[in-house]
Parts: sequence; structure tokens; C-alpha cells
Amino acid sequence: MSKLKIAIQKSGRLNEKSVALLEECGLKFPNGGGKLITESSNFPVEILFLRDDDIPQYVEQNVAHIGIIGENVFLESQKQINIVEKLNFSGCRLSLAVPKETDYEGISFFNDKKVATSYPNILQNYFNENQIKATIEVISGSVEIAPGIGLADGICDIVSSGSTLLSNGLKEVEIVLKSQAVLVSSQNLDEEIQSILNKLLFRIRSVQKAKE
Ligand code: ATP
Ligand code: ZN
Repeated sequence: MSKLKIAIQKSGRLNEKSVALLEECGLKFPNGGGKLITESSNFPVEILFLRDDDIPQYVEQNVAHIGIIGENVFLESQKQINIVEKLNFSGCRLSLAVPKETDYEGISFFNDKKVATSYPNILQNYFNENQIKATIEVISGSVEIAPGIGLADGICDIVSSGSTLLSNGLKEVEIVLKSQAVLVSSQNLDEEIQSILNKLLFRIRSVQKAKE
């Protein structure tokens, strides 16, 4: 009998809420103990614990059938996968920020400037749409320190409360993207897997409705 393979984040900001959602859907499974793959005892699913950045690729290749990631990771990945449901948790925004003493009068500020980010694809699209010609410096973490050390004039990074920006002497000046957790799926699901997914989706939607 086939099982629906679900990829969720192994640890980090999406992990707990992804586990909680599956549990609220009535799925029983062992969680923790460092296992990277586990199966449910009462529903035909396998759960894969992965780094969030790897999930789009696994789903595109149909190694995982579905996954839970931030829309920011979905868009940045540029993989051929579908969003099947927005999940209403882990809301955040991807924003441009500059040193707080900067005289910022609008997006044209970024012309001929250097911007550090871990989201070069999303940011390049945004600059193209706004006819801005800037240099994008790709760095994978601690983006907020880039202006202070002279690596960039600004940054584009995930913001939720804004306190990380503040403590690094930065201010948010443009919102590039509003993001939340989403359920993504492969474009190559066979009939049996699709029907398991439909059952799970029905439960997810009931859980969501109950919270409205
Ligand atoms: P991994 O080790 O799996 O690669 P990560 O460090 O890339 O994890 P996290 O910081 O755990 O990722 O964030 C996962 C997702 O949570 C983000 O991609 C984003 O969609 C969402 N998120 C919500 N609020 C925040 C926040 N304040 N900072 C960063 N991400 C946030
Ligand atoms: Zn990540």
C-alpha cells in the first residue's frame, strides 16, 4: 500500500507548528529522538525531517510528495512545485533595510547600491519590476551585519518583529514579500497518493476552519 511522503523542517521556526498541524489532523507518529524519517501508526503517511531549503527540490523530484515551507523558500527555489494550501502560521515579511541614519526617500535609493541577501532570486525580480539596477551580494546567514562591516549598503532579509534589525542599527524601508507557511506538492502525484492527499487536505481545512 502506498504512503504519502510529507517533508517538514527538522528543526527551526517551522518545525513545531508543522508537527502540531499534523497532530491536529489526527496523525499519530513518533516525534523526536533524532529520527529523520518516521511513519504514522494510524494514517498512510511517512514524515521526512529535512532542512527547509532542501524541501522544494525533494518535492519537485517526487521524493517527498508534499512539504511544509515558507512562501519565501518556495519562491526563492524556483522549483516546479505547486502551493496547495496556505497554512496561516509563521507569518513574516521579506524586507529591504538600510542603516537607520540613512536619508531614505524611496526605492530609487537602491540604484547603484550593494544589497546583501540570502534571497537573490526574489530580490532580483523585485528590483527588475521596480527598474532598479543594484548589485546583489549573496550571503547565507547573519545578513544584518553586512552594512556595518562595509559589505553592503542595505540588506534584504526576513523580518517578523523588527527587533533584529533595530539591534543591528537598521531600519525597514520596503516590504518585498509577505510570507506564511504553505503546503506544497509535487506535480507528479499518482492517483493513490493524490487520494491520500485529498483526505489529509480535508482534515487540514477542518482544522483551519475551527481556528477561524
Ligand atoms: P534550516 O536549518 O531548516 O535551513 P533556517 O534557519 O533556514 O532553517 P528558520 O529560521 O527556522 O530557517 O525559518 C524557517 C522559516 O520560518 C523561514 O523561511 C520563514 O518562512 C519563517 N519565519 C517566520 N518568522 C521568521 C523570522 N523572524 N526569522 C526567520 N524566519 C522566519
Ligand atoms: Zn533554511
